[in-house]
Amino acid sequence: MVQVNGNYLKLKAGYLFPEIARRVKAFSEANPEAAIIRLGIGDVTEPLPEACRTAMKAAVDAMGTREGFHGYGPEQGYLWLREKIAATDFQARGCAITAEEIFVSDGSKCDSSNILDILGEGNRIAVTDPVYPVYVDSNVMAGRTGDADAAGQYGGLTYLPITAENGFTAQIPTGQVDLIYLCFPNNPTGAVATREQLRAWVDYARANEALILFDAAYEAFIQDPELPHSIYEIEGARECAIEFRSFSKNAGFTGTRCALTVVPRGLMGTAANGEKVELWGLWNRRQCTKFNGVSYIVQRGAEAVYSPEGQAQVKALIDFYMENAAIIRQELSAAGLQVYGGEQAPYVWLKTPEGVDSWGFFDRLLSQAHVVGTPGSGFGAAGEGYFRLSAFNSRANVEEAMRRVRAL
Ligand SMILES: *Cc1c(COP(=O)(O)O)cnc(C)c1O
Repeated sequence: MVQVNGNYLKLKAGYLFPEIARRVKAFSEANPEAAIIRLGIGDVTEPLPEACRTAMKAAVDAMGTREGFHGYGPEQGYLWLREKIAATDFQARGCAITAEEIFVSDGSKCDSSNILDILGEGNRIAVTDPVYPVYVDSNVMAGRTGDADAAGQYGGLTYLPITAENGFTAQIPTGQVDLIYLCFPNNPTGAVATREQLRAWVDYARANEALILFDAAYEAFIQDPELPHSIYEIEGARECAIEFRSFSKNAGFTGTRCALTVVPRGLMGTAANGEKVELWGLWNRRQCTKFNGVSYIVQRGAEAVYSPEGQAQVKALIDFYMENAAIIRQELSAAGLQVYGGEQAPYVWLKTPEGVDSWGFFDRLLSQAHVVGTPGSGFGAAGEGYFRLSAFNSRANVEEAMRRVRAL
């Protein structure tokens, strides 16, 4: 008799996006003439940069020749890509990260889940509330939590509320936690952390021998030159942080798949016998055993992001989405709504009107404006009373959606 992993049975049914899909389907079946605009799911909409396409086409052709054929590549990624990442994304910003510390992968979603493979069962885990659901669900699946309560919060997890009251950057815990998930610029709130705020987290982690899992998937959207893009811009972060990066949102690789994880040499965890163990070696072992690398073609596409044309084309993409975000912010404010985010991130986080909860606002927007967004409560209990709109869409759709919202 085959047994299932009981941890999966703890996962809450009716996960956010299926529930959204269900309500949208029901509405469009009842109103087939309604032209629905989706500002909900966090997927990019604009075409791949030309520099990336050109590089990938050349790589496909090379694969068709005996000399240019590539079989299995290094599990950690090709050195030519890792060196460009280290130089451009880290060393140019004053972070002493080397190519050896970069692990190329097929996604940050997988990496931020898979990292639990090398971390012990007894860690006390902190997540923000609201949160990117992957951090929570991957801990549930790995058996690192208890059951969910009526509010949907899992036993054993420490939830750190991020709300307007604390400026959308969580309070540093007063007690001991061992593992902290941070995402800045933030999905879903669009908030960003200052250097001082990140320094407080690094100081906490060092004082408590904790590990920060820093998700920087949206760093390219930062506009303010004073704001840090990497946790390694903070002194001491090499001793207490792993960083996740992705080509998904900056270069539109959501369907192409390439990302990277930084594990600094000398970053240590503790074994059951008290001995210090380097996490780099464990992650390297994990990747070499369970992962066979990203395709040569895709890595050539990612490399092209670092060419002068690639950099210019990625900047144009970011500028385009950030103009969308500015339009959304401006129009929602003009409609009398309180808006947050959308200035250093492609997400606008709005406060629902007095007396309307997150799902109530979802239904109102869908039925009256035919616009789909994401209820804040779907990202955690503290997201109740908030709503996320994404800037990932065509200009025409954003303008039309905002015209309808203002007409409400
Ligand atoms: C989109 C996103 C990512 C990127 O995930 P990939 O698997 O690399 O596409 C990572 N973290 C957050 C919070 C995201 O929203």
